[in-house]
Amino acid sequence: MPTIKRTVHRPWQVQRKPQEGRQHSNTKFYLSPQWRKLRAMKLELQPLCEECLRNDKHTTAKVADHITPINRGGAPLDIENLQSLCNRCHNIKSAQERTR
Ligand SMILES: [Zn+2]
Repeated sequence: MPTIKRTVHRPWQVQRKPQEGRQHSNTKFYLSPQWRKLRAMKLELQPLCEECLRNDKHTTAKVADHITPINRGGAPLDIENLQSLCNRCHNIKSAQERTR
């Protein structure tokens, strides 16, 4: 008598997605002293979130964000390619980039 193979569903086991290679490869860069220095410089020059400023809001910036992402060919260590963002605006921008 053949046994019917039943697939056991375990919904509590979270399916792991394969690592996104692109994001992973940037980790090293964001830990480099050159980046840390440039990031600090940018936040010193523009301590307010530039996105909030466009909406007449004054929010302390926490993130130096690449206007053109490195993944899309943006210059990683060019201060002209950086904008100061608060965490909220940075999250919104990152979320938008992911869906694009
Ligand atoms: Zn903001």
